[in-house]
Amino acid sequence: MFAGDLLLFGEATEQHMKSWKANYLSLEGRATLAKSVLEAIPIYPMMTSIIPKACVDEIQKMQRRFIWGDTEHSRKYHAIGWDIMTKPKDCGGLGLRRLTVMNKACILKLGRKLQSTDSLRDLKVTQLVDDEGRWKLEVLATCLPVSLLRKIAAIPPPEESVGADSAYCMEDTAGNFSISAVYHALCRFDDGNGAVNWKHIWKIKAQELVRVFVWLMYHERILTNYQKNRMGLGSSMCDFCGDQVETILHVMRDCPLVMPLWLNLVHSNMRRNFCTGYTQQWIDFNLNVDVRGQFDVEWKSIWAISCHFAWSWRNKEKHGLNFIRPIAPTMVVMNVVRNYVVADDVLHIDMESRKVEKLISWKPPPVGWVRLNTDGAPELWGVFEGLTYARSFNFSHVELNVDSMVVVQAITTNGCGSMTGRSLVEKIRRLLALDLEVSVQHSYREANKCADV
Ligand SMILES: [Zn+2]
Repeated sequence: MFAGDLLLFGEATEQHMKSWKANYLSLEGRATLAKSVLEAIPIYPMMTSIIPKACVDEIQKMQRRFIWGDTEHSRKYHAIGWDIMTKPKDCGGLGLRRLTVMNKACILKLGRKLQSTDSLRDLKVTQLVDDEGRWKLEVLATCLPVSLLRKIAAIPPPEESVGADSAYCMEDTAGNFSISAVYHALCRFDDGNGAVNWKHIWKIKAQELVRVFVWLMYHERILTNYQKNRMGLGSSMCDFCGDQVETILHVMRDCPLVMPLWLNLVHSNMRRNFCTGYTQQWIDFNLNVDVRGQFDVEWKSIWAISCHFAWSWRNKEKHGLNFIRPIAPTMVVMNVVRNYVVADDVLHIDMESRKVEKLISWKPPPVGWVRLNTDGAPELWGVFEGLTYARSFNFSHVELNVDSMVVVQAITTNGCGSMTGRSLVEKIRRLLALDLEVSVQHSYREANKCADV
């Protein structure tokens, strides 16, 4: 695939993204789509060639525009920098990939195959240098093209003063080459020596959009009046209190509008501790200490969902017409918390009961068929997008591989599924009923080598 093709494909994708109606999706939804669709576009060409920087930049620009909801005429508030967004979730990011580094990791995988040529088998880099410290280019010339030899000749050969020659992190614990491990080694992600346990945030039992909201709070990137004022936009005071600065802590904890909720939820002995600390301290406190009253659900779920409601009510009050805060906010919060926890438990039991050990192997699709692989949480979206692409490319026979039995059953039987997934399932069924010939199969992710990336 050439640079022009990539850009053309990118333009087609950008047109397509407009149909996703980014404004109706949460930050979490937009990031997931940007990751699962846009990031996946260049993976196959990246396995064999260096993608021109202009293409990578263009794809990442498209991702940023989509995630933050920019349009041709307006640029929205980019709450978090790209360097943080592309950190792994455990290091404070959202786990999007740095495509240039990803490309390097893919090429290293290709390079590793050179090791299997006889002349280079088991050689260390130092063995490619002669006694006078020059590259033994004649050895490399047996298996590398001249253009590559020239590039190697321009690199200073290793010498003792630089330190011992050692194998770079190329393999996972099972001895397989892992692009993911190489990618992480190349990025040298810093988790701040574990000063912040980001895992606590991602383990909150709540919808992903609530977890992303807590993540934004931790980075202090919620667009409160205080934050807006720092950007030169309006007063920093709380619209309700008038004489208090509207910081994150004020909206979530200290404003009289939200206090009745906490008085109901927090145990009376714990209220004093609950009402202390700066933003990050307060978040850490609630992720680690149980201060709930009589409730039977984990405190961090109750707390996170309450904060998300506090912010959503504040926004509706500020921007919506005729919004009235619920008279019994505790009941509203606890209903959502309980619904989530019950649904999560059911799904968990369902997945457990379906785990079956099988021998995993990859088989090519039959001649004349194309194969679509999807996996992970946004699987239903992946299936829908994949089928739409297959139709737009005029493929007539598609073998659809999904790694979740629940998804296979949802689209092949008449089960109704969850409320949120139902309309998407309906759309997929309508596509399946059209002129495409589709065979739906269940495959294990491990059998699909490209899923490694
Ligand atoms: Zn206030």
